[in-house]
Amino acid sequence: MRRMPAIFIGHGSPMNAVEANPFSPQWSEAAREMPRPEAILCVSAHWLTEGSFAATAARPETIHDFWGFPQALYDITYPAPGSPETAGAAMRAVKSASVAPDPEWGLDHGAWCVLRAMYPEADIPVCQLSIDMHAAPEAHHAIGRELAPLREEGVLILCSGNIVHNLGMLRRSEPPHAWAVEFDEAVRDAVERCADEELFDPARFGKAGKLSVPTSEHYWPLLYALGAASHDEKPRWFAEGFDLSSISMRSAVFG
Ligand code: ZN
Repeated sequence: MRRMPAIFIGHGSPMNAVEANPFSPQWSEAAREMPRPEAILCVSAHWLTEGSFAATAARPETIHDFWGFPQALYDITYPAPGSPETAGAAMRAVKSASVAPDPEWGLDHGAWCVLRAMYPEADIPVCQLSIDMHAAPEAHHAIGRELAPLREEGVLILCSGNIVHNLGMLRRSEPPHAWAVEFDEAVRDAVERCADEELFDPARFGKAGKLSVPTSEHYWPLLYALGAASHDEKPRWFAEGFDLSSISMRSAVFG
């Protein structure tokens, strides 16, 4: 069985699921360029919990966890099967935290917006792992590292968030904010230097980091991807660029 990559995808607005945009075709291309996974373990910015959970539903429902968007988005379903086996493997693999089963959670839009572009047939089993909102950055990275062996079992580790995500500073039809570009490039450089620890605290990048990561949930999936990647796996960047001036769509495949 071929070792599967770990991948980080900047998902941006849910509208990327239904509107033409420069990014989602690159998500599709990334999937075409990698081996077909046996299963997918997805860490999404949109499943924040107290404690850690792995979704065990055999038939995960499509969760429309956004408000005020066009009906077309609410009509989408992504009927991929669940993967209780992958959930079980994740629960056993993670030692630094206690991961409990969650039989209720389906697929949130951080997962399905991306998966729908990557695997439109919805025929690869998917399991989500939640993000513990109270855990420290290094704890997220450690969980990613503990999940890495699943890659040897044909599991694609898919981390879905955004490196820069400031919804209060969205602008239409304007270039990205200078601070957003500065932080996005600083993260790119730190990832290329394998300086994972520098990335634990965006505030160390000053004002650019604070404005780019006003809340952590979209940033943390990157730490899972970095943990799941080994340092000899250089990132292959794709979907670089910004959505609405303050959302970095930068994505990377490791391995
Ligand atoms: Zn999001």
